[in-house]
Order: sequence, then C-alpha cells, then structure tokens
Amino acid sequence: MSATANLPLRCWAEIDLAALERNLKGIRAALPDQIRYVAVVKADAYGHGLHQIAARLMIAGADLFAVANLAEAASLREVGPDSPILVLSPILPQEDRHIAGLDVAVTISSAEEVTRFAAVAQASGRPLDVHLKIDTGMGRLGAWHEGAEAVYQLINDAPGLRLAGVFTHFSSPDEDPAFTALQRRRFLLALDRCRGLDPASLLVHADNSAGIETLEIGGPFNAVRVGLLQFGIRPRPGTLLEAVHAEPVFSFRTRVGLVKNLPRGTGVSYGCTHTLARDSRVAILAAGYGDGIPRAASNRAQVLLRGKRCPVLGRITMDQTIVDVTDLPGVVAGDEAVLVGRQQDAEIGIAEFSRWGDTIPWETLCSVTKRVPRLYRTQLGL
Ligand SMILES: *Cc1c(COP(=O)(O)O)cnc(C)c1O
Repeated sequence: MSATANLPLRCWAEIDLAALERNLKGIRAALPDQIRYVAVVKADAYGHGLHQIAARLMIAGADLFAVANLAEAASLREVGPDSPILVLSPILPQEDRHIAGLDVAVTISSAEEVTRFAAVAQASGRPLDVHLKIDTGMGRLGAWHEGAEAVYQLINDAPGLRLAGVFTHFSSPDEDPAFTALQRRRFLLALDRCRGLDPASLLVHADNSAGIETLEIGGPFNAVRVGLLQFGIRPRPGTLLEAVHAEPVFSFRTRVGLVKNLPRGTGVSYGCTHTLARDSRVAILAAGYGDGIPRAASNRAQVLLRGKRCPVLGRITMDQTIVDVTDLPGVVAGDEAVLVGRQQDAEIGIAEFSRWGDTIPWETLCSVTKRVPRLYRTQLGL
C-alpha cells in the first residue's frame, strides 16, 4: 500500500461508472439498430481513466474502441485482450514494427502509409485491418476527398491489407451545420468513386458526438464515434442529443483549507488583481491550477459551498483558490467545495466551468492533473 493511501483527499474527481453505462445504452437506444458504437477513449478516456472506463464500456456493449496512438492501444489491451481497437492518429514510421503485436486497426491517409502497412502485414504474416480516412474539409488527417479513390485502390491492391472501414471527421459539427452537410456530401461522393466498395461490408463512420445530431438515417453510415457524449456532456443543443438524457459522469471536488476575515481594500492573491470592496470572509480552497483549475478562470469562476454559488476572488494559484464566503455563514475548514458537479440543489456544469477558463469541456477534462485521484462509483463493484 502506498504511503498516501490513508490520507483524506484534498482534491479529487468522482467518476460515475453506472452513469457511463446508462449513457452508452441511451445513445444506442436513440440510434437505429444497425449503427455500431465506436467508443472514443483517447487521452486516458478524456481524463476519466482508460482502464476503468473501457472496462465498463465493454460490459455496456461498445463494438469498437478508438484511441489516439499505439501507447494507448497497448494500455487498452491490458483490459481488453480481444477488444477491437482502431488507432486514429498517424502511426510514426518508428512505430510500424509494433503494430502487428498489438492487433489493432490503423488509419490510412496516404499512399505512403499503404506501402508501409503492406510491409508490416507481410512481415507479420497476418492481414492488417485498416480504415481509410477521407479529408472532407477539416484539412487535417485523411486523403483529400477528390482523389481519395486512388488510395482506396492501392489498399485494395495491397496484399495483406484488409479494408475494415472508411471514415471522415467533421471540423465544426457543433457550430456549422451547413459545412457539416457539405462534408457529408463530399464523403458520399468520394465513396461513390471507390469502385467496388461495398459499404455494407465495412464500417462507414463520420459522426462524433455533435455529428450524431445530423446523422442521416438510411445512408451508408453504420457506425458513430462517441467521445464527449458518453461522458454525459452535450457538445451542442439538439433534439436527438436531448433525447439521450446523458448524465454527467465526472465531477471535480476539493475542500476548504482555511477560512479567514480580511478588511475592505485588501488586494487578494498574486498580483492583488481583486480588491475587496467590503470587509470580507474568504475561504481558501485546497486546489489550484496544479490540479487543473484553469488560471484563466481567475476572478471569474464560481464554486459550490454548502449548496450555494460563491465567487472566486483574484488569481487562481498552483495550490490554492480564494473564494468569497462573506454571505455564507458557517463555512469551516474541511468543508467540501464543488468545482464541477452537484451539491445539494446547486450544480455547476462542465460547459460553464470551461467558459470561465476560456476553454472547452474536452480540454478541461484533459487538464485535470495527476495530483487528482479519480474515485470510481459503481454499482457493479468493478
Ligand atoms: C476525438 C474524436 C472523436 C470523438 O469526438 P467527440 O466530439 O468527443 O465525440 C471522434 N472521432 C475522431 C476522429 C476523434 O479524434
């Protein structure tokens, strides 16, 4: 047992695995039966912890797991020796010789990768599954949609490569439906130009969480790639996304370390960027940017104490955050403070918390640091 095992927590994240499972089932129920569920668990499952999240998603019935790179694939293999895995990011040439041993499907964007992966398949003596990625306007990964059929042909002609999927990625599904629709059209036209491609025999996928809102039922799409939504966070308003009733999986909590009175006129925290307008009572929380509270949220964020919202005063520092509790009698050292999540009847959502920090929920989740233990709530006792 580690030396810190018995110490009370100063700042922690609570991860609700039962909510995660309900979310997956709710998303599935909102989609037609033939749609496969690709669980996106890159970046340590969006900071929630890859092993615990993937294990629960396996029980809940995810069809395929998507990770960013081979290191994440290797970690996932520890919990899912037989789980299908797709690696989304480009494989580095230096990594080629590790692909076969991990038994993963890889993403192809270029003719050069076809050549390299054909060599990988040949060296291992086993076929290698690949997903062809088509760039329909994001300008990042994928073969440009005009001419992507050439890469498709090369894959078809390469001994040892098995085309298991074709996909694209939307650049702005949460804010630009017209561009998303254009990307969808480009993708479908590119598929049409791939002679001999049978969508029914592959995974055809485009939609991330926000895309799902405009998924075309009846088209060739037969899989979705779900990241944020399975963690209970809606990337945009929308009727389908609303119908899923996804519940937050993550909450972020700390405790009051000190309560004290300060006279009016005092400048608070580094740089004294906030001057107290009245005689005040402040609570110093035991967490700061060293735990993942964005420094950009200085002077802007709110936290929940005793079920009430309290404003952050001055700069967020590495280990402490100062909160005004003048109007909230009874706060004492040791009280729980909620940064993201519910307390009594009050709630701070991750979208609101992220806006205070000039960021987005995806980055907020990835920014919770190693200092913060993740506590898993589960009804299955995993
Ligand atoms: C991260 C990622 C996703 C998941 O996106 P969300 O918006 O979190 O659902 C889907 N597809 C690709 C290619 C990704 O990189």
